[in-house]
Amino acid sequence: MDQSLMLWTGENNSAATVNESGTVFDAMEGFPHNMTVVDNFVRAWTIINRPYKKVLATISGGSDSDVVLDICSKADKEKKIKYVWINTGLEYQATKDHLAFLEKKYGITITKIRPKMPVPLAVKKFGQPFLNKRASEYIARLQKHGFNWVDGKYEDLIRLYPKCKSAIAWWCNMYDNKRLNIDNNKMLKEFMIENPPAFKISSKCCYHAKKSVIHNIINTNKVDLSVFGVRKAEGGTRSTAYKSCFGSKDAPYGEYDEYRPVWWYLNGDKEEYCKACDVTHSRCYTEYGLARTGCCGCPFGRDFRHELEVAKEFEPKLYSAVTSLFKDSYAYMKAYHEFVKARS
Ligand code: SF4
Repeated sequence: MDQSLMLWTGENNSAATVNESGTVFDAMEGFPHNMTVVDNFVRAWTIINRPYKKVLATISGGSDSDVVLDICSKADKEKKIKYVWINTGLEYQATKDHLAFLEKKYGITITKIRPKMPVPLAVKKFGQPFLNKRASEYIARLQKHGFNWVDGKYEDLIRLYPKCKSAIAWWCNMYDNKRLNIDNNKMLKEFMIENPPAFKISSKCCYHAKKSVIHNIINTNKVDLSVFGVRKAEGGTRSTAYKSCFGSKDAPYGEYDEYRPVWWYLNGDKEEYCKACDVTHSRCYTEYGLARTGCCGCPFGRDFRHELEVAKEFEPKLYSAVTSLFKDSYAYMKAYHEFVKARS
């Protein structure tokens, strides 16, 4: 057990002032006339006020997380929620400033956790993320087995690399679900055959700097309910991991209950909520014009080039760190996109 991750030490977390003894209707004062917002708040109130002893809310400093925090602060009658933020090592100063603002606004403490292996260390040890999570994972496996980036039949390649079945299946487009095959990324295979990667590729920084950290906090503290901000509408790997706003510890693979208060929110619901409840977002949105926060310049981000331009202008030290860390991945991605363009 990692004592540095212990959050429950006896004292209560908060001096917040919202609706400590009120009803759900009091808590919804000023809410927009929006059924998604109202329905989901009633659900939040019901779930959070169940007799859970240890409720953990993970705050990212992003706009969804801002709504989650506002909902939590209004629904948490006993002020029992503990809030944490994981500093991946590539966070904007604007995010850090925003956390200080949130602590003051809501009268809470957001415990900042520095992973044992933040992104820069994980990238140096395992490799750089490239293109997307699935491609990076399979490429990492192929690299681990000394794959020589040739075209070939599955049956032949599997004989040469018998311990690398799933990645060879990806490379040979063997999955029935086409999204799981390399061809899901236009001409990636052709590009890699002509330009084998000369640097290590991996998505493991996400595991070491985020996923395993949250998991360790939950296990160390024996959390019964984990609350976090993910929306069905955001799409992508993160949201496809869930089916609804609530996950029970009694479900297969469940270890604790999970609750996602904004799961059903569309963009419009979020905007209405923020306007009606005076939710302020960080400078990443209001000043830098970013659409997301989190790790600056992550090569998985659709808009990482824009993020880099923004970082260069507003947070030059972060820009230098990120461009040096992901240098090979950015160059490889550029070469890949040029390759596709030239042949399309
Ligand atoms: S978001 Fe990107 S940079 Fe951050 S941990 Fe995940 S893969 Fe690594």
